[in-house]
Amino acid sequence: MNGLLIVVSAPSGAGKTTLSKMLMKEFPNLKQSVSHTTRPLRENETHGKDYFFVSKEEFSDMLQRDELLEWATVHGNLYGTSTKYIRKALNNKEDILLDIDVQGVRKLQGQEGIPAIYVFISPSKISTLEKRLSNRPDKDVLDYSQRISNAKDEVKEFGRYDHIIINDDLNQALQCFKKIYLASKTSRLRYASYNEFIDLGDETNTPIKK
Ligand code: ADP
Ligand code: 5GP
Repeated sequence: MNGLLIVVSAPSGAGKTTLSKMLMKEFPNLKQSVSHTTRPLRENETHGKDYFFVSKEEFSDMLQRDELLEWATVHGNLYGTSTKYIRKALNNKEDILLDIDVQGVRKLQGQEGIPAIYVFISPSKISTLEKRLSNRPDKDVLDYSQRISNAKDEVKEFGRYDHIIINDDLNQALQCFKKIYLASKTSRLRYASYNEFIDLGDETNTPIKK
């Protein structure tokens, strides 16, 4: 069976990076997808680990060659996910955490053939976002009012997601995230046939009725 694709979105400052890192630490088979972006590299980031940092020309070449599963302009920069990267990882049975914005989710859900679990992370108060953003290492280059205004639009798209994690208390939010991951791994919907989870020792190969 292929790996599981978990798509995570959140308004900036909701704690998505923090929670994703904590979840991946507990589950080594869960890997973060590395997106391509035209935004400049931040001090604490590494090319190829946090993002593939590319020029606008390189990004537009990828678009022309139809290499992106989804893409979007977020806070004035281009971001996109390589189709090859995702397919290869899932075929290798790796579980993938895909951190994309709601525009990317819209594009992904408009396509067939890539089953995924969609998770939205948010604090219970919008004022929390501003407080958390002011603690981030990149706080000096952030356009707060733009991000808060984007957040108000992003939460309206909650209907696209399977799970909503309220991140007020970090530990509670992590427990929710773990449960979602583990329950998604065992979902019956991931199996097209019982042959995928049991060897009956004969030639039977009848798919289960959905
Ligand atoms: P995002 O990736 O969603 O923009 P981050 O994970 O970078 O957000 O978190 C923004 C800031 O908020 C960081 O300084 C992080 O340590 C802090 N943070 C995250 N979750 C919580 C929480 N539940 N309580 C308090 N601070 C938090
Ligand atoms: P940051 O630049 O702060 O790392 O990310 C800004 C926003 O871009 C986040 O909301 C993140 O989810 C989104 N993002 C990162 N990579 C991708 C991507 O490949 N596609 C889309 N659509 N959004 C992305």
